[in-house]
Amino acid sequence: MQSLLIHRNDAVKVLTGADRGKTGRVLRVFPDKGTLLVEHVRVVKKTISGKTGQRTKGGIAEQESPIHISNVILICPTCGPSAVRRKHDGDVRVRVCKTCGQTLATKK
Ligand SMILES: [Zn+2]
Repeated sequence: MQSLLIHRNDAVKVLTGADRGKTGRVLRVFPDKGTLLVEHVRVVKKTISGKTGQRTKGGIAEQESPIHISNVILICPTCGPSAVRRKHDGDVRVRVCKTCGQTLATKK
């Protein structure tokens, strides 16, 4: 399985769809599907029904739904939305901004 160039906690910009132009933090990555959950992007309202006999309140919750990785671009801290490439730094694979050449930190 190929690992994705976008990781959790990265800042990304949405390129397509209703949320085009929005930026957000990556909340979750689904490598097998090539999709991501991005904060405040593609938010859907879900109706939650209160369970009988419990004090849980029914209502409407907002939840992000996955967006395909090809629909977003990574935001470089230096130059903004940019393409990234992979570089081997010894044994370590790092991500490098194609525009400014800066190594992008991989936060865990
Ligand atoms: Zn850059």
